[in-house]
Amino acid sequence: MDTDVFRAWITDIATVIREQRDHLTQLDAAIGDADHGANLDRGFTAVAAALEADPPASPGAVLTLTGRTLISKVGGASGPLYGTAFRRAGKSLGDTSDVDLTALAAALEAALGGIQQLGAAKEGDKTMVDVLAPATSAFSKAVAEGQSAADALGALVAAAQAGAEATVSMQALKGRASYLGPRSVGHEDPGAASSALILAALRDAVLASP
Ligand code: ADP
Ligand code: MG
Repeated sequence: MDTDVFRAWITDIATVIREQRDHLTQLDAAIGDADHGANLDRGFTAVAAALEADPPASPGAVLTLTGRTLISKVGGASGPLYGTAFRRAGKSLGDTSDVDLTALAAALEAALGGIQQLGAAKEGDKTMVDVLAPATSAFSKAVAEGQSAADALGALVAAAQAGAEATVSMQALKGRASYLGPRSVGHEDPGAASSALILAALRDAVLASP
């Protein structure tokens, strides 16, 4: 997976977030402050412009620029969390020009580690971690077993979607939704939904590459 694949991943995220902006905002209206779609749309629009203006020369540099831009452009909890995730993933890739599945798995683990270090959410707290943790673990396991890219990325996305779905019945223990207490039950977490979109875009970008 070369720099073009990572650039395609990020621009695909910008497109899908734009398409799902109102849906993400509606999810956040139910248990938060109705800005998640707008926050991410603003952030990834700025990221797409930054990638265009000064195209990074390596996969790691694409992710690092993405993270830096999200941190500077997105207010709210999700900007620093996703920003840190992409920066950690970029750092994990280093300056390699061709990323294999093992390096991608390590980068996703590093991203999750950054989010948990910053936000201190555990699985079950009804956050993006409920998508990223099971998805990363399913992907790492599939890669360690020697599965193909298509199968490993299929496992990643299946676990992500199941994780997002599972947040519906959880009570929020972190973030703004936790202020609602038991009233947060019965709604999908917006950050979990956006994380599932981001990981589906990764699968699509990798499998579309020649
Ligand atoms: P804000 O809550 O500041 O309005 P957003 O609406 O953009 O920010 O993002 C909300 C999402 O951020 C939540 O749905 C949740 O998934 C995620 N989130 C909030 N706090 C945490 C945390 N401590 N750890 C992980 N994710 C979190
Ligand atoms: Mg919000």
